[in-house]
Amino acid sequence: MNQADLLFINAHVLTMDNQMNQYTRGAVAVSGDSIVAVGPEDEIKKAYSATTTIDCKGKVLMPGMINAHTHVPMTLLRGIADDLRLDVWLQGYMWPVEREFASPEFVRLGTSIACGELIRSGVTTFNDMYFYEDDVATATAEAGMRGICGQSILKFPTADAASYEDAMEKARDYIKKWKGHPLIIPSIAPHAPYTTTPQILRETADLAKEFDIPLHTHLAETFFEVENMRNENGMPVIPYVKKQGLLEAKVIAAHCVHIDMGEIRTLHHAGAGVSHNPSSNLKLASGFAPVMKMLEVGLNVGIGTDGPASNNDLDMFEEVRLAAFVAKAVTNDPTSLPASQALLMATRLGAQALHIGHLTGSLTPGRRADLILVDLSPLHNSPSFRRSSDNAYAQIVYASKSTDVTDVMVNGKWLMRDRKLLTVQEDELLAYAADIAKKIDSFLVEREQSVLSKLIALGGSSEEESFEVQLKAKITETDPIIQSLMRNDIDIIYERHYRQHDLYFQFDDPSQGRLRYREDDFVDSKGNVSNVRARLTLLGVRREGALEHDVLLSRSRFLAPATNSPRFYREYFKPKTEVAIEKDRLRWLIKYKETEFYINLDHAITPDLGNFIEIKSRTWSRKDAENKSKLVNELLALLGASQGDVVADDYIEIVREQEK
Ligand SMILES: [Zn+2]
Repeated sequence: MNQADLLFINAHVLTMDNQMNQYTRGAVAVSGDSIVAVGPEDEIKKAYSATTTIDCKGKVLMPGMINAHTHVPMTLLRGIADDLRLDVWLQGYMWPVEREFASPEFVRLGTSIACGELIRSGVTTFNDMYFYEDDVATATAEAGMRGICGQSILKFPTADAASYEDAMEKARDYIKKWKGHPLIIPSIAPHAPYTTTPQILRETADLAKEFDIPLHTHLAETFFEVENMRNENGMPVIPYVKKQGLLEAKVIAAHCVHIDMGEIRTLHHAGAGVSHNPSSNLKLASGFAPVMKMLEVGLNVGIGTDGPASNNDLDMFEEVRLAAFVAKAVTNDPTSLPASQALLMATRLGAQALHIGHLTGSLTPGRRADLILVDLSPLHNSPSFRRSSDNAYAQIVYASKSTDVTDVMVNGKWLMRDRKLLTVQEDELLAYAADIAKKIDSFLVEREQSVLSKLIALGGSSEEESFEVQLKAKITETDPIIQSLMRNDIDIIYERHYRQHDLYFQFDDPSQGRLRYREDDFVDSKGNVSNVRARLTLLGVRREGALEHDVLLSRSRFLAPATNSPRFYREYFKPKTEVAIEKDRLRWLIKYKETEFYINLDHAITPDLGNFIEIKSRTWSRKDAENKSKLVNELLALLGASQGDVVADDYIEIVREQEK
């Protein structure tokens, strides 16, 4: 007789092993942290005696679910902002809130809450990516869960690293600290190709190889990501990361929504694992991952919830069901992704996708005792049929709810017994979370009050308060003015030509100022666009009136590089109205009487407003401004424009006057 610590009897055992063995009256013997025997109850009972015997009362005993992709601390950001496009959601809400609030304490709290939720829904292992991953690992180990905890690396400063070099250094220390832990597998997580650089991808892959740890990343999540990749690098996402050596590491690729057959084969050849995240892909309308093709080729595809801010929960029962349903709908074939295969993705295949198939994912002797009990007797899941071996899988995938999980064990230790959490203090955590939610709420409420604070929240903006001496006058022809510029008393320093596309966002409250999205297309001497620059400027309300003929302006401006599309800014700032103005601009920097001026000759194309001359100079004092305003008026006359044709200083005001 063999001795075991624990003997589970009277269970419907779904092993999820290579043969998909199941035992309707089965037993499992556990010793220490591992499974030692699995089989029909009578056989196991004959071979093993145990210190403790657990009567499972006919419940399903199966491997714990594996959540193949998530960001667990984001439980604290659950429900902050929904029904937005990925870029607006990330850059407009998640990143600013994370910059303000993410801290080691925040991350531990969020992780503990996530662990409670994950354990309750029968998850024993999850694959994470976030900041302060050392704290994620600490809280996960405290909760007794198995976690692959990936330290994020991005090309810009993050909550926990001032630069990517700093992040890499911290990641190395973090990996050394946790390598070899019984529950935690440290990993490195270059966030995505679009938030990293070729150098980061190469260095993170090297680090993963050096320590033989997984590398966790987001690949080909959206159509735009692939489009941009093609435009910028002439290839789709998978060949690009392959080129950087990323696939030499043990890659776990989240999403892979927009990849073709060739890319699937490349991933398979590299032994990469994929996490399919149906809720997140549906909610963010990212598209439908070609899951059936991946499985046919033999890729290890697991199922993940993604972060609880884009799902909004960590419920793997829901996720498995969705994976099966979506596969059927997308292939127009109800036989696609049957229940047994969907459940396999959430267990053994998921473990293989995370490169830990040798540790967990099935009830097999030698694997760790990561297992759950599921009650199939509730009203919503009755009656039970046992005619086919598929009946039990169908009950789990199509009718069970995460609340049907009664008991959870990880690494031979109980984390939940009879629905009571043993390692997570639920009430305490909920009170802390409510407190943080209040703080985040008031932070966002305050920010939403002004266009300026929303602009600052995007990062990269800087204030510039200046006085400008400016005159704008309507002209009929440009050639005589260009001729006049050749005068001896005017020195031309340089000349430029560009097309200027302006988009003015206007808001309900005029004191908010106007936001201008400006794209300058530089035109070279051959008439081709040689360079494009986009800027965002918040034009404050004018603070000082005219000196004479509307010459002196003073206002504050906030400038920021416009790294996103006009669509992004429209969805983020929600302007009341917008006006588009397109013009062709010839610009000279000239010197007249020892003073520099810009001369712009504009042809306003859309709307068709005609031709204008603009003379301007920047100044820092009122006295200097008075002096320059005299010169501006002189120049206007010299160049042949007339005082009578002076118009408002801003095109948008000219448009408005025309509308009247
Ligand atoms: Zn994700």
